[in-house]
Amino acid sequence: MCIFCKIINKDIASNNILENDNFIAFEDINPQAKIHIVIIPKVHIESFNDITPNIMSEMTIFIQEVSLMSGVKSDGYRLITNIGKNGGQEVKHIHFHLLGGEKLESI
Ligand code: 5GP
Ligand code: ZN
Repeated sequence: MCIFCKIINKDIASNNILENDNFIAFEDINPQAKIHIVIIPKVHIESFNDITPNIMSEMTIFIQEVSLMSGVKSDGYRLITNIGKNGGQEVKHIHFHLLGGEKLESI
């Protein structure tokens, strides 16, 4: 079982920001900004390559809720999904990084 599925199953503790039947958002263990939240679907999907438009559209609504709840929506934030080897994806369970709470370096 992957590490994020263990978080979903509560086998690994996480500081959750928001959760519903299909998605969960929790604080990254190694934050790269003042606010760094990881957002995942509860179903194990390896990466953005494999997500369906239906799940992606539900996830869009959930991510927008997380951006509001975490207080970053008005000032802006960054949303990243790493894909595969060249994308630097370490955990093979699709996730979006939401980074904010401060002015981020340009990429
Ligand atoms: P990736 O490099 O795959 O895009 O991002 C994986 C992210 O998951 C990293 O930012 C890493 O800090 C985070 N992460 C890995 N293991 C855990 C964990 O057990 N708990 C939490 N909260 N975050 C984790
Ligand atoms: Zn998983």
